Amino acid sequence: MSLLEVEQLDARHGLLHAVRSVTLKIAAGETVALIGANGAGKTTLLRTIAGAHRPAAGRIVFEGDDVSAVPAYGRLRRGIALVPEGRRLFAGMTVKENLQVAGTYGRPGPWNIDSVIEAFPLLRERLNRRAGNLSGGEQQATAIGRALMTNPKLLLLDEVSLGLAPIAVEAVYRSLEKLIASGATIVLVEQDINRALGVASRIACMLEGRIVLEGRAADISREQVTQAYFGLQKARQA
Ligand code: ATP
Repeated sequence: MSLLEVEQLDARHGLLHAVRSVTLKIAAGETVALIGANGAGKTTLLRTIAGAHRPAAGRIVFEGDDVSAVPAYGRLRRGIALVPEGRRLFAGMTVKENLQVAGTYGRPGPWNIDSVIEAFPLLRERLNRRAGNLSGGEQQATAIGRALMTNPKLLLLDEVSLGLAPIAVEAVYRSLEKLIASGATIVLVEQDINRALGVASRIACMLEGRIVLEGRAADISREQVTQAYFGLQKARQA
C-alpha cells in the first residue's frame, strides 16, 4: 500500500486552475522530487496535500484513509508535515522555542531537540538565538527541524534551497541526505534539477498544473527533465 495517494486532484486559486487532475502515489521510504518552472503548481500541490489549501476535486488518501476533508492540524497529527516556501518561522521566538512549539502539536516519536541538533549540527550554537536573527541556512535548518519535531511520516519540503548561499545549501542537503538514508519519506520541490536528480528516488515534473513526466530517477535523463520543464515533450512514464 502507498503511504500517500493523490487521486485526480484539482486545486484552484479563484478562476486560476493551478493543479489539474494530478495523480501521484508515494510509498514509504521514497524521496520524490517535484520539478517544474515557476507557476507550474508545485507549491499549491504540496499545500493541498498538507491541508493548507482546499482541493476543488479529487482525493488525498494517507495510510488508506481519505484525508481530503481533514484540516491541516489533523493531517499533522496523522504525520503529514510541510516545510513551507519562505520558512515562516516564529521570528521573535528562539530556535529552541520554535522547535518546542512544534513538538507539542505533532506525534510521539524519535525526534526531539537533541536528535534535530544531531541532524542539523549548525543549530547547536543557535538554540537561544531569535529565529529572525539567523542566517538563511540556519533558518531553513530550523524550519526543517521544526517539521521533524512533529515526528512526520511524510515530510513535504518546498524549495529548501531558495535564496540560500551555496555553502548553506550544501549544509542543508548534507543533513537531508542523512534523513533520506534513515528511511524518511519526502516530497521535495527543487528548482535545481541536478540536485533533485541527486537525492530523489523518483521524479515528477509539473507543467501548467499537470504532471507531464514521472518515473524512477535512475530511468530519467537530465535532458528528459529539461524538456518536460519547458514543455517540449508531454510524456508520462510508468
Ligand atoms: P513557484 O516555483 O513560483 O513557487 P509553483 O510551481 O510552486 O511556482 P504555485 O505557487 O503553486 O506554483 O502557483 C501555481 C499558479 O497559481 C501560478 O499561476 C500562481 O500565480 C497561482 N497562484 C499561487 N498562489 C496564488 C494565490 N494565493 N492567489 C492567486 N493565484 C495564486
